[in-house]
Amino acid sequence: MPEGDTIFRAARALNEALAGRTVTRFDSVFSHLTRVDHDLPLRGRTIERVDARGKHLLIWFSGDLVLRTHMRMHGSWHIYRPGERWQRPRSDMRIVIATPDYEAVAFSVPVAELTSARELERTSPVRALGPDIVADDFDATSVVRRIESMPEIEIADVLLDQSVVAGIGNIFKSESLFAAHVHPFARVAELSRAEIERVVDAARRLMRAAAIRRPATFAVYSRGGEPCRRCGTPISSRKQGENARITYWCERCQKRPARDV
Ligand SMILES: [Zn+2]
Repeated sequence: MPEGDTIFRAARALNEALAGRTVTRFDSVFSHLTRVDHDLPLRGRTIERVDARGKHLLIWFSGDLVLRTHMRMHGSWHIYRPGERWQRPRSDMRIVIATPDYEAVAFSVPVAELTSARELERTSPVRALGPDIVADDFDATSVVRRIESMPEIEIADVLLDQSVVAGIGNIFKSESLFAAHVHPFARVAELSRAEIERVVDAARRLMRAAAIRRPATFAVYSRGGEPCRRCGTPISSRKQGENARITYWCERCQKRPARDV
C-alpha cells in the first residue's frame, strides 16, 4: 500500500501540473462521480490545488468541490501530455481530469468521492485523521500525546493507526522503530516519553526524506534473516496486530525496555 510519502509525491506532481489550470474535460467510470459532474459540472472550473492528507489525495476545484481519492493497494495517478500514450491499460482508467496542458488519469483507484469542503470535514474518513507526518505544520507534541493515550497497545500498531498519526504505513513503521532503537512489540506504557518522541521524530525525518526521494534500500523492512546493518544480528520478522502486518526489527539494536515488565 502506498504510504504518506508516496501520496505526498503524487500530490506535489499533480499540483505542479494542474494548479491554476482550467478543467477542459472530466470523465470517470464511477457513476457516483459522473452524477455529481452532471449536476455541478467540473468543466470550466479552475483546479485550485492538489494536496495530501495522510493517504488521501485531495484535488480542490473552484466553486467548492473537492475530489478525494485513496489508492489502497494498486491505485495510482499519472500525468500525461494530451495525446500521449498511457502506461496502463484503458480498462484500468477510473478518472480523467484534462486541462489544456496536461491530463491527470487515475488508474485502479478504488475509493473516490466528489464533495464540498464542508462535507469532507464532516463525513469523510479525512475527518478522523491524526496529524499528517509529512505536513509542513506537523504537530509532534499532539502526536506524542495521542500515542500516550493508548498505553496498552504495541507501539508498532499505534504507528499504523491513522487516527493517531496519518501517513505511516508498514514500511516506515519498521524503519522508524529501528532508527529510534525502540522494540516494535513494546507496549506504549513501557516506553518513556523521550523514546516516543524519538520514534515520532524518526518517522517524520525518514518520511520527509522519502517524500523527496524514495530510498532504494531499507534498514530492516523486508530484510528478515539478513544481517542488521548496524550489528550483524539476523533481522527478525513476525506478523503483528489485528491485520497481521509483518514487522521487521533487530532484536539486539531494539531492546525491550526493562522497566514496568
Ligand atoms: Zn542490530
